[in-house]
Parts: sequence; C-alpha cells; structure tokens
Amino acid sequence: MENEVSDKLSPDSRKSESKGTLYVVATPIGNLDDLSPRATRTLAIADVVAAEDTRHSGRLLSHLGIQKRMVALHDHNEKDRAAGILAELEAGRDVALISDAGTPLISDPGYVLVSEARAAGYRVSPIPGPCALVAALSAAGLPTDRFLYVGFLPAKRSGRRASLDSLSREVSTLVFYESPHRILESVRDIAEVLGPDREIVLGREITKTFETFYSGSVAEVLAELESDPHGSRGEFVVMIRGVMARAGNDEAATMDVDRVLRVLLAELPVKKVARMASELTGLSKNELYQRALELKDS
Ligand code: SAM
Repeated sequence: MENEVSDKLSPDSRKSESKGTLYVVATPIGNLDDLSPRATRTLAIADVVAAEDTRHSGRLLSHLGIQKRMVALHDHNEKDRAAGILAELEAGRDVALISDAGTPLISDPGYVLVSEARAAGYRVSPIPGPCALVAALSAAGLPTDRFLYVGFLPAKRSGRRASLDSLSREVSTLVFYESPHRILESVRDIAEVLGPDREIVLGREITKTFETFYSGSVAEVLAELESDPHGSRGEFVVMIRGVMARAGNDEAATMDVDRVLRVLLAELPVKKVARMASELTGLSKNELYQRALELKDS
C-alpha cells in the first residue's frame, strides 16, 4: 500500500490554491486517542472550523491546543450557514467540518454544505476516522458484505413498527442507531415485528470504558438487557441479521431462514435440518449446514 503523506495540507501547497478546500473530518466516538494525526493536523491548519456544537468541539480543540475561529453548523441553520461557508472557500480559506462525534453527515449535519460545495465546484476532501456503525459492524460478527444503514428508527411506536415491518424481508444486515432511553422499547418492538428468533447484536458505548456487545437471538438479548442494571445506559448501535434470499433472488420470496433452522434444530440432527431446510427454502444445503452449526453452537 502506498503511503501518501503529501497532500494539500502543507502550508506551501495551500498558498498555491486560490480557492479553499472543505475538509470533512471524523472525530472520536468516545476515545480521544482515536483522533488521527491527520485529523489533528487538518484542524490545526484549517482557517475555520464548522462544528455542530461550538462549545462541545471547542473543548476538543483546546484539548489539542488549537485555537480556531469556529462557526456553528447544525440541522436548524445549515441551509443559511452554508452560504457563508462557501464564501470562506471562495476567499481561499480552508474549512474543516466536524460534528459532535464520529463522521459528519452520518446521522449528523453536513449534507447540505457538502452537496452545495461540490455543486459549486469546490474541493471537498474526507479525513476518515471513527464512525459508530462501521466500528460496530467490524466487531459484531454479522455479514458485512451487504448492510443497510437506517439511521434512527422513528421515536413513536407506530412509526417504529411500520418502519421495522417494511424492513422485515430485507436480505442485508440492518443497522440502526438508538438512544439509551429508547433501546428497550425498540428491542421489544424488534422482537414483536421481526420475531424473537432473529439474530441481533447491540454495540454499546463502543471505544469507551463500558464498551459491551450483546449478541444472540432478539429474545436472549432482550432478557439480558432487562436484567442488566446498566443495560439501557449509553449509546447503542443495533445490528440485525437480514433474511436469506431464496433461490432466484426474488426479494418477495425471502424468509427468515434462521427461524426455520431453529425450529428444525429443536427436533432433528444438523444434517437432516440442512436437508429439510434446503427443500423448504431452495437455498444451498452446504450454506444451511454451516449456518445450522453456528446456531447450534451459539
Ligand atoms: N456521526 C456519528 C457516527 O459517525 O457514528 C453518529 C452521530 S449520531 C447523532 C449519534 C448516535 O451514534 C448515538 O445515538 C448512537 O446510536 C451512535 N453512537 C455514537 N457513538 C457511539 C458509541 N461510542 N457507541 C455506540 N453507539 C454510538
């Protein structure tokens, strides 16, 4: 892998550019050591830092020993503020966009600014780093070849259930963000709408002192959360195994194969389970055999 160290952030190369660059900078999701040296350097070199909450991000900057002009850019003023930030770029000033935690634009402000900056022809460059959903998926042990990030589920129960219902046949691993005061309600709704046997993994307080991963069937994880006095504290990423597609890849004809396997496993040996499940679903016997073994051991 080539190690690209020279970029536009060297002060000399910056002077040669007449227009500024918008840097989209990821910041830690809990552990400050996760801030990359390049992110620190970008924040130090930028002329302006656009932050979701200037007080919150001001503390990060002072921890780094950086003093910088800051502008607030949050969901409620993004449309108005974007014009001012484009004017900074036009005047040749580099702007670093950060959010309270993790990667801007991922359930955080920045979409309007980035799309407008791109449309107006300014250079927009990512400074990658922490992102809760990627960190959670990397350690969950669920399929990551295809995943669907859904952001936050609706706060109201009816909306949440409707949203879950619309995703019940999704083949990709589902990923949600959830706040501590709604995690129990949400997992209860997941049990009712997607079924108590679906495999789920919760990543809580990732990179922080009380980092915990809960995994198992929805019913098991719910019981664990309910019995853990700290279970509903902290920030959560919720990940749910998608359903397996039946032969022909017809999405309407998908089914919860884990459920089929679990029911059969309760009565039959693994080999027979794989054969019967294969007849029922049209999926490969080998694939089902592997999955049945995993479920049996879990
Ligand atoms: N932009 C951020 C990112 O890149 O992940 C996400 C911002 S969103 C407003 C905040 C949500 O992300 C939290 O409610 C929680 O669901 C999730 N989250 C953030 N930090 C987390 C952590 N350390 N552990 C688990 N979930 C986290």
